[in-house]
Amino acid sequence: MTKVVIIGGGPGGYEAALVAAQLGADVTLIERDGVGGAAVLTDVVPSKALIAVAEAAVDAKGSSAIGVHATNVTIDIADVNARLKKWAATQSSDIRERLISQGITVLAGKAELIDASNIQVDLADGTKVQLAAEVVLLATGARPRELPSAVIDGERILNWKQLYEFTELPTDLVVVGSGVTGAEFAGAYQALGSQVTLVSSRDQVLPGEDTDAAKVIQDVFAKRGMKVLSQSRAVQVTRTETGVSVELASGEVVTGSHCLVAVGSLPNTENLGLAKVGVKTNDAGFIEVDKVSRTSVRGVYAAGDCTGVMMLASVAAMQGRIAMWHALGDAVHPLNLETVSSNVFTDPEIATVGVSQADIDSGTESANVFNLPLATNARAKMQGISEGFVKIFCRPDTGVIVGGVVVAPKASELIFSIALAVEHRLTVDQMSQTITVYPSLSGSIAEAARQLHQTQSLN
Ligand SMILES: Cc1cc2nc3c(=O)[nH]c(=O)nc-3n(C[C@H](O)[C@H](O)[C@H](O)COP(=O)(O)OP(=O)(O)OC[C@H]3O[C@@H](n4cnc5c(N)ncnc54)[C@H](O)[C@@H]3O)c2cc1C
Repeated sequence: MTKVVIIGGGPGGYEAALVAAQLGADVTLIERDGVGGAAVLTDVVPSKALIAVAEAAVDAKGSSAIGVHATNVTIDIADVNARLKKWAATQSSDIRERLISQGITVLAGKAELIDASNIQVDLADGTKVQLAAEVVLLATGARPRELPSAVIDGERILNWKQLYEFTELPTDLVVVGSGVTGAEFAGAYQALGSQVTLVSSRDQVLPGEDTDAAKVIQDVFAKRGMKVLSQSRAVQVTRTETGVSVELASGEVVTGSHCLVAVGSLPNTENLGLAKVGVKTNDAGFIEVDKVSRTSVRGVYAAGDCTGVMMLASVAAMQGRIAMWHALGDAVHPLNLETVSSNVFTDPEIATVGVSQADIDSGTESANVFNLPLATNARAKMQGISEGFVKIFCRPDTGVIVGGVVVAPKASELIFSIALAVEHRLTVDQMSQTITVYPSLSGSIAEAARQLHQTQSLN
């Protein structure tokens, strides 16, 4: 039996452990904080659950656009947070039990490489153990980046892991950082009833996302009463007697009851013995891996956020599985990021797959584009949806679909049809020949594909 040791029990680690056990390896997984990792305990699960509560609050408030008016919707954030933490803990223990039921040894503790095939573990009970391994997987994740000018106190100045300690809804939440995490929480707390100020150092929120999509979100935020400060770099966040004060580079000062600092992540790659063993990291500390998750050292693999490849739970899980398929001699396909769907859980959501508008605009990719606003869709009208669009990218010569963007409620579900088209190289003609439900939002996806056919025939 091949001895496999996995350091880190998030999606990168636990999915790999399941594959390795299925392939007959002797697997030990070491986790410092809790099985499921940050993904389950503090990041994906509680944040998406909080967003689901925010959506329920918005639904309960009614939709004046379609004649539903409601009052007196109250949020008991202490109750909500207690439930979120319980769900996360339950999911963590379900995953732990599943690993154990598959014969995997799960150790609570902190691990470090002694060399490429020996691992030192400081167990949670205070004892130490040394493990030998033929294959090692590093899946140690990442943590919130902190700034000396915005010292986190866990009460008024918080990182995203600490938001679930609120017993009362923040009255005035200042969110520093308008990337995916900042934008998702800003939107959620606004929907729950907080006054939100979003401080963005860029021209537009969500840098790195499709700019048309980011514009929709920025406009929606502003329309709903959020204060969005663009081109505003926060230089200092301090605690005051009653809350927080955020000083901007312009000299302007923004005050609030609480501040969420969401300015990116740093890899958990220190104190792992990487330099001693020869595992290469880049300047930012992320572990360098190839498309089958190999590091620079034979027998040592890495997966997930500690590699910085594409910081998503879905990608972490696939990198971990690929590592084990490769290490244990099973059939393996290299990681393909071209078909990864990702989603920003704002309201509306932004889902993307494949090549981006930025790639097309810069000339890196050649594609025809059609952008169909959802406002033209019959189902959208019935549901009072006025914002959002479907955008499809196809190769000019063949019509093969190479990417798309959906900005809509539940875009995370709608993107699947475009992802399927990208994965299987379907053409806009093939997509548009499929009869969709009438009326439905997915009808706009087929319609956008049809419009690209017309554009092509005219060319
Ligand atoms: C607020 C937020 C929301 C997100 N939402 C989504 C989403 O909706 N969808 C999505 O796909 N992605 C989402 N992500 C990204 C996702 O959380 C990460 O991509 C994912 O957690 C990566 O998994 P991982 O296994 O690499 O790391 P993690 O989940 O961070 O797990 C790594 C584990 O390793 C452990 N560890 C570290 N060092 C050691 C050591 N020396 N010894 C033992 N154990 C160690 C840590 O305790 C940790 O539990 C979100 C991220 C954030 C911050």
